[in-house]
Amino acid sequence: MKLATKYIHAGTEPDPSTGAIMTPIYQTSTYVQEAPGVNKGYEYARSQNPTRKALEDAYAQIENGQFGLAFGSGVAATDAVIKLLSPGDEVIAANDMYGGTYRLFTKIFAKYGIKFIYVDTTDPTNIQKAITANTKLIWIETPTNPLMNITDIAAVSVIAKAAKALLCVDNTFASPYLQNPLDDGADIVMHSATKYLGGHSDVIQGCLVMNDPALREQLYFIQKSCGAVPGPMDCFLVLRGIKTLHLRMQRHCENGEKVAHFLRNHPKVGKVYWCGFEDHHNYAVAKKQMRGFGGMMSFVLKDDSIDNAKRVLSSTKIFALAESLGGVESLINHPASMTHASIPREERIKNGLSDSLIRLSVGVEDADDLIEDLNKAIG
Ligand SMILES: *Cc1c(COP(=O)(O)O)cnc(C)c1O
Repeated sequence: MKLATKYIHAGTEPDPSTGAIMTPIYQTSTYVQEAPGVNKGYEYARSQNPTRKALEDAYAQIENGQFGLAFGSGVAATDAVIKLLSPGDEVIAANDMYGGTYRLFTKIFAKYGIKFIYVDTTDPTNIQKAITANTKLIWIETPTNPLMNITDIAAVSVIAKAAKALLCVDNTFASPYLQNPLDDGADIVMHSATKYLGGHSDVIQGCLVMNDPALREQLYFIQKSCGAVPGPMDCFLVLRGIKTLHLRMQRHCENGEKVAHFLRNHPKVGKVYWCGFEDHHNYAVAKKQMRGFGGMMSFVLKDDSIDNAKRVLSSTKIFALAESLGGVESLINHPASMTHASIPREERIKNGLSDSLIRLSVGVEDADDLIEDLNKAIG
């Protein structure tokens, strides 16, 4: 089935009791049983909810996986994956990833005796070198937030399999429309559904998708035991968002390409970070594993003082100054003081995230208006 058809129909069947074409919002905490232990597969809504079930099926289908699990946020989904581990286990993670993932690893889980080793995953040999007998999980993000670095998923999956470690890929930036990590050998795909899957900046949610039934059982056990489940209304919103993922992503890609080239040709703009440029460090890998390059990018100004960056950040009229990304409306963000402030400055600079870096989530408005807005703000 082609992507457009899949996204429209994923997970949703007409409601069996009424024929409603849209999955109803089953706003209930419990289900009446016919006799003790005799039920329709639904007992208590932390464990099962029909709206969530429809969405979890949709997550599985759009990521070409067998099983999907929905969580109350992207970080709750990440939290569930790390809870597969025990004290003494080691995780090799990317040194350039979402600040909240880094915070969860270093500030919450490190104190439970799980060891995190951060490497530059854009060269998979760095992962190979960090493998030990205790390596249980490899965590990558590609493209990365905010520097748009690309890691070769297939190459890392070979290393993970040889080490008998799980590979989890944060696929938030690409979305399933542009990249499907399970097809490249990953064991788990994670999304912040808050971003492109929801797509309308109106919901916080996360998900995991996997193929292995035993792994699904373990993660489902964590989901219901720890309880970070989304409510049915939020599940409904993401189900609706997925139906237009292909339409939105096509326009995000078109606008992204136009804005990236505009920035690159602007005399006052320095380096532009976008994985669709042919001279991007890992362009060949991006081309191999992605169907397009999306609408996320970052750039620095030639006058790279913080004040100049702040001037631009406060001057756009269409690009709204806000955290988050992947919605229909364009956003502009200052990673050093906003999304990535939880990473110590020293670490940020070491990994190439300068104080003056500006990140854009290019939305689906008219590209000419977006370019004019940036042009005026840059001055
Ligand atoms: C936003 C984001 C997350 C966290 O997701 P929440 O839904 O905000 O909890 C994780 N990874 C990436 C790449 C993100 O952009």
